[in-house]
Amino acid sequence: MTATPDTVHQAVRQEVTARGDALWDVARRLHADPEYAFAEHRAAALLSGELERAGFAVERGVAGMPTAFTARSGRGRPAVALLMEYDALPGLGHACGHNLIAAAGLGAALAVAAALPAEKTAGSVLAVGTPAEEGGGGKAVEVEAGVFDDVDAALMFHPGVYSWARAPLTAQVQYRVAFHGRAAHPTGNPTEGIDALAGLVELFNVLAVLGRRLPEGSHVQGIVTHGGTATNIVPEYAEGLFGLRAATTAALEDLTERLRVCADGVAAATGTTAEVERATVRYEHFRDSEVLSERFAAHLARAGVPLAPPTPGVYLGSSDIGNVSTRVPAIHPFVAIMGEDGSDHTPEFAEAAASPRAREVLIAATEALACTAADVLLSGALREEAWARHRAM
Ligand SMILES: [Zn+2]
Ligand SMILES: [Zn+2]
Repeated sequence: MTATPDTVHQAVRQEVTARGDALWDVARRLHADPEYAFAEHRAAALLSGELERAGFAVERGVAGMPTAFTARSGRGRPAVALLMEYDALPGLGHACGHNLIAAAGLGAALAVAAALPAEKTAGSVLAVGTPAEEGGGGKAVEVEAGVFDDVDAALMFHPGVYSWARAPLTAQVQYRVAFHGRAAHPTGNPTEGIDALAGLVELFNVLAVLGRRLPEGSHVQGIVTHGGTATNIVPEYAEGLFGLRAATTAALEDLTERLRVCADGVAAATGTTAEVERATVRYEHFRDSEVLSERFAAHLARAGVPLAPPTPGVYLGSSDIGNVSTRVPAIHPFVAIMGEDGSDHTPEFAEAAASPRAREVLIAATEALACTAADVLLSGALREEAWARHRAM
């Protein structure tokens, strides 16, 4: 069932090996110069510049985002996309290891384009720079702008504390809930006042009760963003921000509806009015393309890195790769760069993202991504199976 001759995989691996030092240099330069969501100007310039030098046709500022870009080698379908994240975390630097995601996507795109020259292969290799994964959801914006419309597969890997073939990534969105009441002096004319903050506090109480009967994976976390201006004024305005999370996008829609019902019910009970408004891009849950993630795992196993299925019942955060995976077959495997007692978004993880182990993982993951990309381009049967399963999800 090997769709691609081993000679092609060998050629792809050689192209990655030849670029090993250069890719590690890119990963380290990004690590040493962290930039944040939608402001990753130097990272986008570095990566798109490397692709341009290799003959890719680069388009900058795609989907209305200055730090998003695409780079294409070849033409038309079939098309395989290699995704590059490059945003860091304020105060923590590259504590999510996106410097490695960027270098791996770059390396895989360069290697597969070099190993499969256009005259021998129909189709295209598309490298996609995807800003603001940590907040803002660049991929979600790109999906809406049609960046993935003519793509057969979207491939990336994420460094982690686990080595998992697929990522149990949840759906997530934030909502702003505002309560409007009427200001009054709390002792002078208390009956005139309608306490907007009381409405907001009551919403927290109602949501705590709701939380007990939510399905596994569903969760609401709220904070108060405005709670009044002075203790001698009944608050006429109060506002909270609520993070909603669920195992599936459908469950998230259900949870959103419940938030609305709770807010309206509390408003009716407290004499306030409530406004419920989406505050962020909605991250959809991740749908793994099993046929492609199995390919990736098999290629990675050859480098001596085995991947396991995720631990049942463990949900990780959310990612905008979920929105891509709703449109096209996609993979987002995790490859460990530190032990399971660690965690991403910590100073220790940031350190691990520039460690000798990170370098080994980078090269192994780049090879596996590039070999999987070659399989997508060369095997019509693989693409058909990936699409058939995608449509059935
Ligand atoms: Zn992260
Ligand atoms: Zn991340």
